[in-house]
Amino acid sequence: MSERPGGRESERGPSGPAEGQEREARHERYDPSTALLVVDVQNDFADPDGSLYVRDAESVIDVANVEIEAARSAGAMVVYTQDWHPPVTPHFAKDGGIWPVHCVHDTWGAELHPRLKVVHDERIRVGVGGEDGYSAFTVADPVTRDTEPTALDSMLRARGIERVVVLGLATDYCVRATALDAVALGYDTTLVVDGARPVELEPGDGQRAIDEMGAAGVALV
Ligand SMILES: [Zn+2]
Repeated sequence: MSERPGGRESERGPSGPAEGQEREARHERYDPSTALLVVDVQNDFADPDGSLYVRDAESVIDVANVEIEAARSAGAMVVYTQDWHPPVTPHFAKDGGIWPVHCVHDTWGAELHPRLKVVHDERIRVGVGGEDGYSAFTVADPVTRDTEPTALDSMLRARGIERVVVLGLATDYCVRATALDAVALGYDTTLVVDGARPVELEPGDGQRAIDEMGAAGVALV
């Protein structure tokens, strides 16, 4: 597991040289042709009372808020994705899938976490029609597995976006799938490792996902 930014911050104080360097590096990540993709920071994943709570999601919100601020000040686009399911879908264990019921549309669990900084309202909702899949760029038919693009790629192209920075929940599912699709679509892609946490149905899934993203050409920062 990677270091937690909160711990490092408090050790060296808010204005040490390392903090300055980190801030500069963060600022260099963003410009008007970059989009920050904030993946699925929703109550069901990010709140301890959520139905699919990801351990340590609180620190993801802290990192996300700092990155969102840096992105906005550099004129970068910020896109918030939301897992967004009908009440009945083969994505859920009760309907033949593997997951507890989560992020049902227009419920508390599907809302962005209230502590997440929402600067404006570019949102992509995934799974709206009962589709399956984890990437913010594509959805899959639950039966045939045929994939279809979401609006995200065309939304980014329309804004002249060439680079994407990804963080959020969860490292081994939606973050992984979104980052891998971004690379495949030709975006220069960066993962903020400390800004993501894994579900880990199997121990080690988080690190395996990070390694896979790195091997696919995702820059890990
Ligand atoms: Zn889901």
